[in-house]
Amino acid sequence: MEIYDVEKIRCDFPSLQREVHGRSLVYLDNAATSQTPEKVWHGIEEMYLEHKANVHRGVHTLSQEATDCQEATRRRVREYINAASEREIIFTRGATEAINLVASSFGDRFRDGDEIILTVMEHHANIVPWQLLQRHRDIKLRVVDINDRGELDMEQYRSLFTERTVMAAFAHVSNVLGTVNPVEEMIRIAHSHGVPVLVDGCQASPHMRLDMQALDCDFYTFSAHKMYGPTGIGVLYGKERWLEEMPPYQGGGEMIGHVSFEGTTYAELPFKFEAGTPDFVGIAAFSDALDYIDSIGLERMAAHEADLLRYTTARLTAEIPGIRIFGTAPHKSAVISFLIGDEHPYDVGMLLDTQGIAVRTGHHCAQPLMERLGIPGTVRASFAAYNTRREADLLIEALKRIASMLG
Ligand code: PMP
Repeated sequence: MEIYDVEKIRCDFPSLQREVHGRSLVYLDNAATSQTPEKVWHGIEEMYLEHKANVHRGVHTLSQEATDCQEATRRRVREYINAASEREIIFTRGATEAINLVASSFGDRFRDGDEIILTVMEHHANIVPWQLLQRHRDIKLRVVDINDRGELDMEQYRSLFTERTVMAAFAHVSNVLGTVNPVEEMIRIAHSHGVPVLVDGCQASPHMRLDMQALDCDFYTFSAHKMYGPTGIGVLYGKERWLEEMPPYQGGGEMIGHVSFEGTTYAELPFKFEAGTPDFVGIAAFSDALDYIDSIGLERMAAHEADLLRYTTARLTAEIPGIRIFGTAPHKSAVISFLIGDEHPYDVGMLLDTQGIAVRTGHHCAQPLMERLGIPGTVRASFAAYNTRREADLLIEALKRIASMLG
């Protein structure tokens, strides 16, 4: 098998060559967003230079080309996640919008007293949309806790289902703890109670092969910008039978069959959920990101990231006095959240930045999890396919200096 040439991969990402505060950039904020390979912004450039015309509305050549590019990505995404049909692939602005779409449109059927199961490790994007339903209905949120390693309490999960449970919604992978949740089992349990499931796949889609038909979830969401793709694009996968039944989320152009003041009919799937001019430029270029991932191989990328996770975790634990790592599940993706002694995460993050090292600090849009852990936030280093052991070394050496400086 061809060796994993990380230096060659790095050459595809010009942004990785830049300097920050006079040092080579060490970009370890990939769980927030990944950098973008040349192939993807060339795709964006090509759309602007050659095929910039509004999709679906024109008979003219440019419009048809733009439409073809957008629809080619839909086919590509369907194939990439092994969905049964292109009708099940909805383009959104991101995972956040996708979850809001489901909460608002699927949530239309929920009634007073209905219950939704979430977990304590959810991103705000998978909490607040469900809370918005509570403005009009008395919906109860039931929350699954975690153990000391940051794994879900599966006994509790099982026990939370009642005859009033109408939805279970949870992350595939935690953006803070890195825990890979047993989603297959969780979906099976929910379905055994007749409860549909939404999986927030934001932190899984850049690192693991997805198969919607094998997973059998009802909804799955992810964002392109975390997958080496453009910003402003997300995907909602939904089972056709649900999407057919659901009312539109937004009204406007593209999503209609016929409009009159007496009443409006809606377009077929997937267009029923794509009101207004979509970001067809970004959508077209998302296909280039998926091609890029396939050109290296997602499994090889994931193996490289797993090596970085093991290496960095072992060294941090052994060499940084007073470090606490949050999330130590055996099945974990390449995210390391930590605190050093009583130091505030912002101070550590700012000092790392002065050395050219980009990490995320704060609550990571998971305030209920921070509350559960009894901490204000963490420092989070997260890896992508282009990171190196040398970068991990630079992080560790910098943290050693910071730890001794801060005492
Ligand atoms: N869920 C998880 C687990 C995430 O990590 C993120 C991004 N931080 C989101 C949802 C929201 O993604 P976006 O901002 O791209 O909509």
